Amino acid sequence: MWIAHTEDGTPVEAARNLASDSYLCPMCQTPVILKRGQKVAAHFAHTPDSDCPASEAESWRHLMAKQVLVDELTRQGWGAQAEVVHQAHGRRVDVGLKALGPDGARLYFAIEVQDSAIQVDTMKDRIARDRRIGYDATVWLFTTHRAAALMAAQPDHEVRVPDEMLWVSNRYGQGVQMIDPQTRELWAASFGKIRRPGESHEWYTPEGDLTGVDYPGRTLRKTKSVGRRRAGFIPQLAPGKFGDRWSLVFAGEQQGHPRP
Ligand SMILES: [Zn+2]
Repeated sequence: MWIAHTEDGTPVEAARNLASDSYLCPMCQTPVILKRGQKVAAHFAHTPDSDCPASEAESWRHLMAKQVLVDELTRQGWGAQAEVVHQAHGRRVDVGLKALGPDGARLYFAIEVQDSAIQVDTMKDRIARDRRIGYDATVWLFTTHRAAALMAAQPDHEVRVPDEMLWVSNRYGQGVQMIDPQTRELWAASFGKIRRPGESHEWYTPEGDLTGVDYPGRTLRKTKSVGRRRAGFIPQLAPGKFGDRWSLVFAGEQQGHPRP
């Protein structure tokens, strides 16, 4: 984790020059250790026996992606906060973002960054929790490390797309959004279906769940063609689906939505 509390409850960001002091996990209130080795990004770590939901190990890319998102969004005047803890729901949102709806209503988005594989059921569980907490929608970003196959794809290639990315693309209808924390770039990928006569293809519910294959005896095709473009750190509201009132897309050059 990047943010811990001092003993009087003040949030502090992990940094190399932060004093060695006692720090507490904002989720479980147990002491966490400031780590700042030469090869890792500064972060706080639980003791190995912790069962806190916030204790899972994070890659430096995941930590850095949260910092880059908060930096870039804040620089543009958006209300962004890393590691928003909802203790009662056992949930820590990677980045929380405030926005204004067209009617002037305040909107809250939970941005999740994935640097490793994730089960679609886990994503559905997080979305359900985010709704109960009161977020208007959950926004998924994959690191360019996790989405390396998409970043390397040539226009005429077939790419095996990980299940969770296909699911995100189907559910939100916006392709897949990717972040490179080292170059501080955002990318958007969209998928094209590849079909040939005599080959199976898959059917999805509107929510993105696989319901059938038209040639059940054959291997399911999950290869797609991939289109890719640079995006920017300008969040834009779009109509939501499946009970989400809104969704959020990181647009490129377009005009952003009014800020809160
Ligand atoms: Zn904890």
